[in-house]
Amino acid sequence: MMTTAEYTRQLDAALAFMNEGDDFLVVSHVQPDGDAISSTAVVGWLLDKLGKSFVLMNEGESPSRLSYLVHYDAIINYRKSQPTAAYKHIITVDCADYQRIGEVSSLFAEDAGLLNIDHHPTNNGFGTVNIIRADAAATVEVLYDLIERAGFDFDKDCATAIYTGLLTDTGGFRYSNTSSKVMGIASRMLDKGVSGHQLADHLLEKMTMPKLKLLQRSLSRLTFSEDQQIGWLYVAKDDMKETGAVSEDFEGIVNYALNIDGVEVGILFKETEDGHVKASLRSSGKADVAAIAQNFGGGGHVRAAGCRLSGSLPDAIESLVDAVRKALN
Ligand code: 5GP
Ligand code: MN
Repeated sequence: MMTTAEYTRQLDAALAFMNEGDDFLVVSHVQPDGDAISSTAVVGWLLDKLGKSFVLMNEGESPSRLSYLVHYDAIINYRKSQPTAAYKHIITVDCADYQRIGEVSSLFAEDAGLLNIDHHPTNNGFGTVNIIRADAAATVEVLYDLIERAGFDFDKDCATAIYTGLLTDTGGFRYSNTSSKVMGIASRMLDKGVSGHQLADHLLEKMTMPKLKLLQRSLSRLTFSEDQQIGWLYVAKDDMKETGAVSEDFEGIVNYALNIDGVEVGILFKETEDGHVKASLRSSGKADVAAIAQNFGGGGHVRAAGCRLSGSLPDAIESLVDAVRKALN
């Protein structure tokens, strides 16, 4: 565990990095989730306060259900706009490793400084300045500390983004990462005018028809290991086309596998456009899925991790399920 003094030193180094540059490129990970986009929005908000100019960018599209976030409309889709500028001051948020930045890293100048703000225990500190708090529930929790350290007041825009990142990365304040600190921050954000029940309804309860169809297909394929300790589902390439689902619709589906009595590890396999398979792993805590994912070039947290596998869907399922089986026994 990091000491308070060490953490304060890291926060100060991050603020010094922001104060020294003028023009920043802020990026989160490929297929960004709630915490990734919220963190991007919060960094934009903070750079604004510091009077800096910045560009917010991700490799692909941002989930449309997060369109209410401050600076959401400014987030550039790299694949769509194919920019060529080179940036010297980079801030990455919620990126567990350098590869997770995706194609946006081609815009980093060779001598660029990189501030890496994250909460994944598998993060190796690829930045020139790093704040990695593995005990934080979400990257926005670290950003909350950074804004406090900088001495700015939270307004409703910033509070909404922080609350969104906490809500999504804790599964609605239910996962084991829901600490008293998380609840304290959430409480302060509610005091700034955030509507907690509206956000929960919008992000966790409501479902589009394409997502419902995707869920129906996935559930019809739920499969278990002989001892029922592993449950998995898959989504093939054609499912996306036929249901009209988009990548944000995958969120939460893997939990249906994990949440069956007796299941210790749930996995969702997704066949990607480029012929790879993306796996999302969730654990009750008995197995460390970050360690398993790392063996396949991925990473994450003990109870939630991911990786990409090459080869066909059946091959990917066989090799990963086998690795999980070994980890459990
Ligand atoms: P998800 O399954 O929701 O995509 O991701 C679960 C957790 O694992 C998230 O914290 C995510 O950042 C991390 N994760 C997912 N895929 C990868 C990957 O390919 N590499 C690494 N390093 N982390 C991943
Ligand atoms: Mn996160």
